[in-house]
Amino acid sequence: MAKQRQSDRKPSLSELAQSDDFIGRHIGPDADEQQAMLKALGVESLQDLVDQAVPSTIRETERMPLGAPMGEQQALDALRALADQNRQAKSLIGLGFHNTITPPVIQRNVLENPGWYTAYTPYQPEISQGRLEALLNFQQMVIDLTGMELANASLLDEATAAAEAMSMMQRVSKSKSKRFLVDANAHPQTIAVMRTRAEPLGLELVVETPANFPGQEAFGVLVQYPDTTGEVPDHRKLVETLHGEGTLVAVATDLLALCRLQAPGTWGADVVLGNSQRFGVPLGYGGPHAAFFATHDKYKRNVPGRIIGVSVDTDGTPALRMALQTREQHIRRDKATSNICTAQVLLANMAGLYACWHGPNGLWTIAERVHRLTGILAAGLQELGFTRVNTQFFDTLTVEAGDQAQTIVKRALDDHEINLRVLDGGRIGIALDETCTPETVDALLQAFAGEAEIGMQAAKMDGKAVDGLPAALARGIDYLDHANFNAVHTETEMLRYLRRLQSKDIALDRSMIPLGSCTMKLNAAAEMQPVSWPEFAQIHPFAPKDQAVGYHKMADDLADKLAKMTGFHAVTLQPNSGAQGEYAGLLLIRAYHESRGEGHRSVVLIPTSAHGTNPASAKMAGYQVQLVDCDDHGNVDVEDLKAKIDKHRDKLAGLMVTYPSTHGVFESAIKDICARVHDAGGQVYMDGANLNALLGVANPGRFGADVAHMNLHKTFCIPHGGGGPGVGPVGVAEHLTPFLPGHPLDSECGGDQAIGPICATPLGSAGILPISWMYTAMMGAEGLTRATETAILNANYLAHRLSEGYPILYRGENGRVAHECIVDTRVLRDECGISVDDVAKRLIDFGYHAPTMSWPVAGALMVEPTESESKAEIDRFCEALLTIAREAREVEKGTWPQADNPLVNAPHTLAQVTADSWAHAYSRQDAAYPAEHLLHDKYWAPVSRVDNAYGDRHLVCTCPPIEAYREAAE
Ligand SMILES: *Cc1c(COP(=O)(O)O)cnc(C)c1O
Repeated sequence: MAKQRQSDRKPSLSELAQSDDFIGRHIGPDADEQQAMLKALGVESLQDLVDQAVPSTIRETERMPLGAPMGEQQALDALRALADQNRQAKSLIGLGFHNTITPPVIQRNVLENPGWYTAYTPYQPEISQGRLEALLNFQQMVIDLTGMELANASLLDEATAAAEAMSMMQRVSKSKSKRFLVDANAHPQTIAVMRTRAEPLGLELVVETPANFPGQEAFGVLVQYPDTTGEVPDHRKLVETLHGEGTLVAVATDLLALCRLQAPGTWGADVVLGNSQRFGVPLGYGGPHAAFFATHDKYKRNVPGRIIGVSVDTDGTPALRMALQTREQHIRRDKATSNICTAQVLLANMAGLYACWHGPNGLWTIAERVHRLTGILAAGLQELGFTRVNTQFFDTLTVEAGDQAQTIVKRALDDHEINLRVLDGGRIGIALDETCTPETVDALLQAFAGEAEIGMQAAKMDGKAVDGLPAALARGIDYLDHANFNAVHTETEMLRYLRRLQSKDIALDRSMIPLGSCTMKLNAAAEMQPVSWPEFAQIHPFAPKDQAVGYHKMADDLADKLAKMTGFHAVTLQPNSGAQGEYAGLLLIRAYHESRGEGHRSVVLIPTSAHGTNPASAKMAGYQVQLVDCDDHGNVDVEDLKAKIDKHRDKLAGLMVTYPSTHGVFESAIKDICARVHDAGGQVYMDGANLNALLGVANPGRFGADVAHMNLHKTFCIPHGGGGPGVGPVGVAEHLTPFLPGHPLDSECGGDQAIGPICATPLGSAGILPISWMYTAMMGAEGLTRATETAILNANYLAHRLSEGYPILYRGENGRVAHECIVDTRVLRDECGISVDDVAKRLIDFGYHAPTMSWPVAGALMVEPTESESKAEIDRFCEALLTIAREAREVEKGTWPQADNPLVNAPHTLAQVTADSWAHAYSRQDAAYPAEHLLHDKYWAPVSRVDNAYGDRHLVCTCPPIEAYREAAE
């Protein structure tokens, strides 16, 4: 059918859409395709379909009170106007955040490259070898610099990593003590986040000078090295003493300092953690950055977050994968080691690649240069008569300035555009970094000297530099000798290395990623561009607030829109993942009950279908988890809920309920469920990670939820980044507003009875908020509503098409699903001997990433197309899954043997199908080209099916000298 042409009649001016109109570009199916899909569903209009899918009890038809949609250019201009209200001074504030130079080759080819930023978490190793290698580089870098045996592939930030260390040490410690000691000279935000964490867990957190640690019967301690004043303490004896007392030691540290300072692993640390931001990741007003976490091999099963390991594929070729996956955090629910799901993969990749780019010599040089400049500054300040607080240093000096402090800090800013840290008692902190030059030092000396002539020049003071490193702790280059850190120091080599890694993977730039519950929708270029603007990227989180006016306007506007869309009274943007949002929300509920003298409420009800992060977060918030059954339709079993409410009435703190349900349905009893919980004095926590089926058609704040988190990295277009970053804002009803999380370094952050901070910085991952701001600005109420409706249309169309080959589990009352559906592949297992794994791996031969596997239903697939996919792409995907069902039937018929067919052998590598011998019961063509479109565009998995059991039996989490693993597999 020929499409109608715009020129067939003369349109009016208002019909002539602006060329940068975004809505039509974001939404996949055009009007003709939508008509065809509705017809296939036997529905007259999109409105009719939505009416069938969304229960009338919660249906909203009123338009959300947001501005009109903007075109791409218009929105960029509007955001530019806000960005221009930020002031980019050079922040030498330190506190774990430093200026850094993102190598342009990494900025352009990783940070700004959809091949990297649109990838999913590497659960499917065969299509993730590229990003897995980058993560392994990150782990190896951390292992080498910290001197530990094992590192994970990132945590959310340094402060939460410290809190995770505390929790892990308590789990592994033999001590019965509940006491944990923190270095009084740890970064203040780290202490504050640990305090927030310790309280509900019943741990006693004591802030102390490390010299006083011995003899206090603590199960663990944390020291900062170098500490927040810049001092480089020698903790070797202390650690020995503490170990003698059965106390474990965590060290918060700095990777650049470790290029010149002895690794904590060599002096006995049990956990080493910190922020990898200064390895090429922009400041972004606080995040996102990858925290690192390293420990002993013996604690591998207790480590929070994900670990990348080495295994082999079916041909014995080395292949990477996420190790110990079954142990992966939240999957163990309330027994989980932590609630970490989304972490900081994209940023960890950048930091690891920064190390590859500079190599060991380059890193040592950067560290030595920073230290030398600091030494010159120290000499100059001495000459000017200032006293240094810290005797030893790497890159940070704390200087006694007495009553001159304010004047000096003001002069540094006014005359030199430099921000300094102001500490108590007239002390000034100065942290140098790789962007500093001799001119920076001159400017600093001038700021301290005032009108007086400084009479010295940093460029000529090399010989006078004070050596701040304790001789016993200085370090030469004994790190990063693996090939990956020594091979790609020219841009040509780096460019090709990045390209090689990227080509191994499937991300959204290749094909639809239909992962249920993950909402892998378009991450538009116009949304991504502002992330790189220096006005957003180069602001220090603790810069004076009047330098971040544009940031706060942008964030406030986004928070305000999120509140309006969801019907909540207020929204905090602080949590840096969905699971952190859950944790924050539960702490708000806790604070609310306590404020009413009902702190004894200790039970949280959670339906069995909940995402594993829910029970894990509840546990962290100090709650006892009681499960509630689900009925045959995947809804909360209201009878069981009533019984559980009755049983725990006096102790009921609340219910965590996912909406739409994890089975992809709108349950109609939701209002009734909320009312029952309220009746019993409980609060309702809604897991709104997946708002994609709700915006504009229902309003959670109005159907009874008191608090909810929403994942900006799902519904609001922040790309998944291969497993992070994310943002998990929390919306609250009015009565919870006073408790919104605060921050020790920002008195305006949070409510007037604020709970402690959830993460290291007041705005969490502020640097990626522009993405969601752009999305909401460009969509407006109209576009967001159309997106929801189209997501529902796409999911229902997909369910309809797939029902030809598979049962579709769980539908709402009118036989409709919400924005995703569960495809029951168990029929193929039962009737043809083909597992859900076989189906998932065979999809790779078709160029597709598998849908969500075995969650929430073991053995089934959960498929979510999102509104961004066109009918053509959805059809192509459905054809693939239907072809797979037909192939399985051939196995059932005996055309192909059970043990040798294209399904059980999938995915097929290029090496396999081009090998001289081919001994299979099916043809090479059947193996590699099961669909015609593949003739024009074929993705080849770089490895065949990866052996998970082998990888766990032989856990290796370091960069392999490749040959070693080939031998091991033989
Ligand atoms: C994704 C998801 C979460 C967890 O979000 P993270 O950002 O990965 O921590 C929680 N609940 C549901 C239903 C989700 O889909």
